Amino acid sequence: MKYVSTRGSAPEKTFSEALLTGLADDGGLYVPDEWPSLKGSGSGDYLETAFEVMNLFTAGSLNQVTLKKIIDEAYESFDVQGVVPLIELDEQLFLMELFHGPTLAFKDIALQLLGGLFDYELNDRGEHLTIVGATSGDTGSAAIEACKDRENLDIVILHPSDRVSEVQRRQMTTVDSFNVHNVAIEGTFDDCQDLVKAMFNDLEYRNKLKLGAVNSINWARVMAQIVYYVVAAERLGSHEQPVIFSVPTGNFGNVFAGHAARNCGLNIPKLLVASNKNDILTQFFTSAQMKIDEVIPTLSPSMDIQISSNLERFIFELFERDGKKVKNLLEKFRTDGNVKVDSDIEAKFSNSWAAYSFDDEEVIKCISSESERSGVILDPHSAIGVLAARSHRDKQIDPEIPIVSLATAHPAKFPKAVERALGKCPPLPDRLADLHERPEFFTRLPNDLEIVKDHVISCSRIDEK
Ligand SMILES: *Cc1c(COP(=O)(O)O)cnc(C)c1O
Repeated sequence: MKYVSTRGSAPEKTFSEALLTGLADDGGLYVPDEWPSLKGSGSGDYLETAFEVMNLFTAGSLNQVTLKKIIDEAYESFDVQGVVPLIELDEQLFLMELFHGPTLAFKDIALQLLGGLFDYELNDRGEHLTIVGATSGDTGSAAIEACKDRENLDIVILHPSDRVSEVQRRQMTTVDSFNVHNVAIEGTFDDCQDLVKAMFNDLEYRNKLKLGAVNSINWARVMAQIVYYVVAAERLGSHEQPVIFSVPTGNFGNVFAGHAARNCGLNIPKLLVASNKNDILTQFFTSAQMKIDEVIPTLSPSMDIQISSNLERFIFELFERDGKKVKNLLEKFRTDGNVKVDSDIEAKFSNSWAAYSFDDEEVIKCISSESERSGVILDPHSAIGVLAARSHRDKQIDPEIPIVSLATAHPAKFPKAVERALGKCPPLPDRLADLHERPEFFTRLPNDLEIVKDHVISCSRIDEK
């Protein structure tokens, strides 16, 4: 299996190389050079299906025994049977809970695996990586949890100051480990993501520090997320069983994994893109146009994003894998803050995608009504997925096809919103019960590339190797 860049001019890579590289040298993202076909029909056992799926994508890089061991270790830390429980909310409407990992958001599914993959590859090569990542709240803690205490990694995580919830911040900043460094940036998540991309695009800097990526620009994250789409179809019947997925969306990583599962043969007639009021993706899927706006803070901060980096992987497909066209379109988007794709391109996605956006009031009402109806307590991100699923159902499109709505965070991670809806919130799991008493460690920095770069150098132990 080979990987190619979405901008067409960086060299091809193996899976292991793409894992360690993160962003391609031409500024693009790595994708498989062709989509493999899912074979057989698994029983919906998470570990077995994870192996079958990821074996296709890692072929030629990882031997099967190693892959199996990394998968088994990654999902040991999930405190529920089956890793991702599938529960019925209503007739033909299901919720898949992806948040039973160590940091209570779906990011653990990919990052627990990524931690093990990095460790294996770096030990194998006797190398060291300096991980830099941006977080809208959940990637940071999941990445820190997966990378802490590992000798061959240093990890620096940028979060937008005062724009993540207190639980989210504390889950990052209370980890006391020699290789963990938190930075609060005076800016938005998009600013943090731009800083990270700029560090990667400075090739001299990047090679000197051996930068590694934990954001979903790293292909391995998307790969790990393909698994639960396959597991959902298997648990509802088989790979042939049509299933619609409703996906709370920010950076487009999660829902792109669903699209990748579809490209590998899963029968997904529609993917529902569910957004909060930062609805640039809803605009794109309903009008083929995107216009950058200010980021609006909402009750679902992990989706407060205007520039969704993984959309690039989808655009690459739309343009029949022509990297030059992708580059031109994205450069135009960055300079004009606005792009529209032609109607022949729009025709390629208008039937297989739908998009919805909801405001905070609708989210609060949804948390309250779902709790009354079924007793299920949703976090504000998962509520947006359920709102999109129910809106779609109300339109009576495909009424006989089951919809699986992805629940991306545990309600205790966003207690303020849940309390506003229900007057109470479920407690944090025991292992996090003293989170609010633990000391915090972080550095506050301005949104200034040079200052941030120097700080990352001071955190990296690369010279000691
Ligand atoms: C990251 C995140 C999202 C958005 O996922 P993307 O892959 O960025 O689209 C949604 N909900 C929660 C809780 C998250 O942490």
